[in-house]
Amino acid sequence: MPLEETDNDPRTPYQLPFPPDAQEEIVIPDAIATDERVWVPQAENVSFRPLCLNRSQGYWMNLLRVRKSGVLSRHRHPQPVHGFVLKGRWHYLEHDWVAEEGGYVFEPPGETHTLVVPEDVDEMITYFQVNGVMLYVDPYGNTMGYEDVFTKIDMCRKHYAEVGLGEEYVDQFIR
Ligand code: FE
Repeated sequence: MPLEETDNDPRTPYQLPFPPDAQEEIVIPDAIATDERVWVPQAENVSFRPLCLNRSQGYWMNLLRVRKSGVLSRHRHPQPVHGFVLKGRWHYLEHDWVAEEGGYVFEPPGETHTLVVPEDVDEMITYFQVNGVMLYVDPYGNTMGYEDVFTKIDMCRKHYAEVGLGEEYVDQFIR
């Protein structure tokens, strides 16, 4: 592209159109949703709130919420996970560290773990970015099931239809 003119004002917005094939941004003002219907139940005392369900790159960003000392099934991550604790505290049965409110966790590929919220925590909320697939496993690593961005989308569609938001409510989070 030829350089047409120089503008040294740092407050001049970008002047050109965005790439026509670029996807739309996602902006969610109430990310920690107060509307209970937005939280998708996943297991007893466990639910998630979708933020970005990235089907084109195979990952998902969500808030995981666990109440009343819930347990998240044992699972293996063949690909990395990033987590940021927004509320409460939790740990894995397989590690001796504790993820505390305000803390960040990187889970490398190869992790197999079981998330537990301790008895004295009423609620934990963690922002997780999960890549690829989660494999639910028995204590010896045998695969019992899986989740990926498509199973997450399916869960959202089913739940949002049931609570009256309509299955298409999830579409705003899909890229
Ligand atoms: Fe995990």
